[in-house]
Amino acid sequence: MEYKVCSKCGESKPIELFGRCNVCKKCHSKYVAEWNKNNRDKVRKHSSKYYANNRERENERSILYQSNNKDKCKEVQANYRARNKDKIAKYYEDNKEEIKKSKSRWYINNKERIKEKSKENFDRYYARNKDKIAKNRKSNVINLTDSYIINKLRCKNITPELIKLKREQINLIRLIKTPNYEKCN
Ligand SMILES: [Zn+2]
Repeated sequence: MEYKVCSKCGESKPIELFGRCNVCKKCHSKYVAEWNKNNRDKVRKHSSKYYANNRERENERSILYQSNNKDKCKEVQANYRARNKDKIAKYYEDNKEEIKKSKSRWYINNKERIKEKSKENFDRYYARNKDKIAKNRKSNVINLTDSYIINKLRCKNITPELIKLKREQINLIRLIKTPNYEKCN
């Protein structure tokens, strides 16, 4: 086995424990951690610049990682939230407007995806609850529930009076359409 002496800690170590320089990996990572600590602003700027330049890739990577580590991520997030409750609340309070703006920006930018997702969710829900939904629909039709009438009305400014009138109208039409209904002379 080949050995090398670390120029930092002076220990003689197997060559695999060295990177490209004369400092062992342990000392090197210590040095990097120390440097990061002392240059927090620089690191932050750099990583946000890196993130801006690699947004797509980083987003994909993070989504992939999250979907592969769902439980772990959930736990980490919950822990973080629990530990930083006040900080998070303050952040939201201080950045209310900006958050609101970025949220609506997000909705606008992801309109299609959101639409698709909600359709998917609906389809899944529908498939799972087919019988229940069919039964409900039937009962809505038979009982002329408010939601059924509102759906039939298809207009703005729906008032309770309007619902009542529409219900009466539907009832009358049904009555006329029943086979045993005798027309007045
Ligand atoms: Zn060393």
